Amino acid sequence: MSRFPLKPARSTMRAFVLPAKNRPMTKIVFPANRPSRTKIVATVGPASDAEETLTALIKAGVDVFRLNMAHGGTGDAQVRLDKIRNAAKQLGVPIGVHADLAGPKMRLGEIPGGEYRCTPAVPMKFVRGKTATEPNTFTTTYEPLIDDLNVGDRIMLADGTVAVQVAEKTPDYVVCSVVQGGVVRSRQGVNLPGAKLSVKTLQSADIEHAQWAVAAGVDYLGVSFVRSADDIRELRQILLEEAVKLGQPLSVIPRIIPKIEKPEAVERLESIVDAADAVMVARGDLGVELDIAQMATVQKKIISVCRQKGKPVITATQMLESMHHQTLPTRAEATDVANAILDGTDACMLSGETAVGEYPVQAVEMMHRIAVETEKLLYERETQFPAVKNIKRESLTDSVCDAAVHLANEIGAALLLVETSTGKTALSLSNRRSMTLTLGTSRNEKTLNWMNLYWGVLPVLNAPEDPRECLRAVLDSGTAAGYLKGGDKVVLVGGVGEEHRNVIYVHVVG
Ligand code: PEP
Repeated sequence: MSRFPLKPARSTMRAFVLPAKNRPMTKIVFPANRPSRTKIVATVGPASDAEETLTALIKAGVDVFRLNMAHGGTGDAQVRLDKIRNAAKQLGVPIGVHADLAGPKMRLGEIPGGEYRCTPAVPMKFVRGKTATEPNTFTTTYEPLIDDLNVGDRIMLADGTVAVQVAEKTPDYVVCSVVQGGVVRSRQGVNLPGAKLSVKTLQSADIEHAQWAVAAGVDYLGVSFVRSADDIRELRQILLEEAVKLGQPLSVIPRIIPKIEKPEAVERLESIVDAADAVMVARGDLGVELDIAQMATVQKKIISVCRQKGKPVITATQMLESMHHQTLPTRAEATDVANAILDGTDACMLSGETAVGEYPVQAVEMMHRIAVETEKLLYERETQFPAVKNIKRESLTDSVCDAAVHLANEIGAALLLVETSTGKTALSLSNRRSMTLTLGTSRNEKTLNWMNLYWGVLPVLNAPEDPRECLRAVLDSGTAAGYLKGGDKVVLVGGVGEEHRNVIYVHVVG
């Protein structure tokens, strides 16, 4: 007898008979326009938080909405979250929500008169405390500033437009020479590039916001100014403890997105990406903390490490900056979005363009159009080179997904359909960058929202649990929506139902 007796076959394939066509069944919503494979993250702010605008933004191509916790508290965030959930429900689509924790962002204190012009001729003095009492003296929101600075350190003010350098340090103040002059305003950002900060990454407000995010069912949590993988582990522990306290399943806590914006994070990139669920190239602060001349190469490095490790990556900030006040981006901005996609980013993010800009919907439409155009070049590359390249293959799921993507490519499938419980199979497919439109279904609502960040995967609501019913519903709805026609091939992959783990099944539309 064989040392490895097989279990009696329960031929699942023979049982895979599809229900009859066009019987009354669950309708699956296919988008009116084919979505871009690249995901779009849009920041919600006063310019976009009306429910009609959120609806228009979803129709224009938004996959994930970002709530910036640096502005407003959990009350404001909850109101916006409710409107997003409602807009998505009305449209019948899953939408991801990403709450971005502010972290230890340093800001200038109040400046008498609101602003001050820094000139090389006049040194600036930074003092302890909250209020400056002498002229040409400044305070910040960062209490240990004087302790953390050393002679020779640079301080960047107003998003890096003004640079000063510490010339003298005493126990109570530092005097700085102005290297690059300009105007600074009350409460503008302060960055200390290269300085090793003593402050904790997760401030008490961040912990409170993270606890709210668990209770509110937020899908992703951004962590600002991450410096090591320990910051991510600490946040995950807080989320788990909160879920236990609330009696929630631990598997649905928000997924964690560290923002790479400090030189220390770039140095420890590999371990941070390993600990993360997804990553953001936070170019706003990164461009101040590092020499801006390194921006493009650091972006490419971060994207490349995330691709190797199979973690979704968002490229953020100033992507269509001029669309704050104009209906068209500059040539450079349009090219920037395209280049991030060609670098391999999973998602592109809009910040002020949708939060406070005059043309939030046009900005999303523009990003979507650039993505669709750019993906044609990806498609040409994919057909010239094997679709499955040197991507991590660590599990049986990865190998099955390799085979499914290869098969779909070979037979020119019109659709890949993946049923996934935690989203692992959908992410593995996404990592393989299949140009075949991929639909993701799940019994888990959170998984559907998470999939909104996965390149090339379109999560759909209401798919029946039974794989045969599911395929039938997709075939009927997909044909009615013009996505499928007779003779098209559909590849079904993944853990389809209890008995159908690691199945690849090809169906030819009748
Ligand atoms: C960034 O710095 O690029 C970023 C996305 O963070 P924030 O908008 O919080 O400054």
